[in-house]
Amino acid sequence: MTTVVAPVADMQILLDVREWPDGLHDAGRIADLWNMLEPVLHGHDLTRRPRYTLGHPNGDVHIALARLAPGADPVVGPSTTFQIVGMLEPAKVRYRCQGCAAEGRERYGSFTCRDCGTDALDKRLCDVHARILDGALISTCAAHEPTCAECGATATFRCAGGRCQRQKAHCDRHRRTHPSGSDRSYCPSCYDAQFPACEQGGCTNMGTARCEVTEVGLRQCGVRMCAQHLRRWQVFGGEGLGLALCRRHHRELPGYSPPVLIRQIVAGAYLRSRRRRDAEPLPSLRGFGHSLRRAGHTELALDFRWILRTIDAAQHDLTGTGGRDSEGVLALVQRRHGRWDDEIKKIAAGNDRGAELVERLKILVRHAIPVHGDVIAANLSLADYNRPRAHRDGDRPGLLFVRVPEAYRGIFIGRQGALIRYFSEQLSQGEQGGVRVQIEGDKRGSR
Ligand SMILES: [Zn+2]
Ligand SMILES: [Zn+2]
Ligand SMILES: [Zn+2]
Ligand SMILES: [Zn+2]
Ligand SMILES: [Zn+2]
Ligand SMILES: [Zn+2]
Repeated sequence: MTTVVAPVADMQILLDVREWPDGLHDAGRIADLWNMLEPVLHGHDLTRRPRYTLGHPNGDVHIALARLAPGADPVVGPSTTFQIVGMLEPAKVRYRCQGCAAEGRERYGSFTCRDCGTDALDKRLCDVHARILDGALISTCAAHEPTCAECGATATFRCAGGRCQRQKAHCDRHRRTHPSGSDRSYCPSCYDAQFPACEQGGCTNMGTARCEVTEVGLRQCGVRMCAQHLRRWQVFGGEGLGLALCRRHHRELPGYSPPVLIRQIVAGAYLRSRRRRDAEPLPSLRGFGHSLRRAGHTELALDFRWILRTIDAAQHDLTGTGGRDSEGVLALVQRRHGRWDDEIKKIAAGNDRGAELVERLKILVRHAIPVHGDVIAANLSLADYNRPRAHRDGDRPGLLFVRVPEAYRGIFIGRQGALIRYFSEQLSQGEQGGVRVQIEGDKRGSR
């Protein structure tokens, strides 16, 4: 039986020619190199070192023994046979930087130029030759170096603003940095849109609030103010966030007629509800009355039927144009209407009770004030009665607002309020929760 064994060379060799400048691309050149190297190895035991380095003017070549055939002599001699089983060649730089190539070097190019519009291998750029501006990882080549969108100067950053979306480039002269000092930069127009200035000259705060007064229809004034310089029109009660007013509207508002004031409140509440789901609801009728009273309209402030009619008229006014806003305003007013109707009923009942209390007050006045008592009692009338209310931090007494002629107010109140306190105490006896007498429209009173 014969076994045919493929002829195996004495030594299988690995050639490391990574430092060889041009690499070795064909078998002929490898053979030439090997013929040059082999005599140098004669007499060396290749098993003794992991690799042999042979200096060559072109670059060092390293030789390692991969396998010694069984029984073969480890020392290289003229009869030793070789087989080159592996070559380590210089890594081919597939993506070569075009800039480095132009300077006679070879370097990996990890970037492409956005504006060359190609992914061609020879258009690659290394991190030195790619131009990458602040603000966006967009690279360009030297020929496509970005210029400022505003002035054409060499650009230094890409704008983080909403309009530019980090695509447009700008120069340092047209750079505005983020107000909080973060490293984002903006072009002037994006900056103004994103960080509007406060209307107050010289104020450096951001104008985060807009004036909520409406001019024509539902168009809001919109003047920008910072939190420090805005004024609030407290139309939603003490706990609600009042409508923001610019300087001009803060000045002009007290001159508005009562129907206009009511329309402003309806429009302001609607526009808020359009922006925020948790927006303040329309005020109660007393809430509207409170805003009218503060603007000096004391009589209308208590005419709740007139207030309700005027709210309805305002709604008509605002929905005249049709469209989505019309439906919105209508829905907002309708949502509140049931409660206003109830409020009117309660106020009527309260006023009946208030009228009774005023009759008792007149008797007290006649007895307590010797000289002017009769005259004062004759001129005393009910302005409004808010019944006592249970409240989470203690019950609130009823508030009996009475009209007293200006000339007699001092006497009615008494020294340091002694007399008006006495009236309150007397009337409280018949009213659960107590009663506080207050003069309607009096500066000393709370309204
Ligand atoms: Zn380069
Ligand atoms: Zn380019
Ligand atoms: Zn510029
Ligand atoms: Zn911009
Ligand atoms: Zn300001
Ligand atoms: Zn305004």
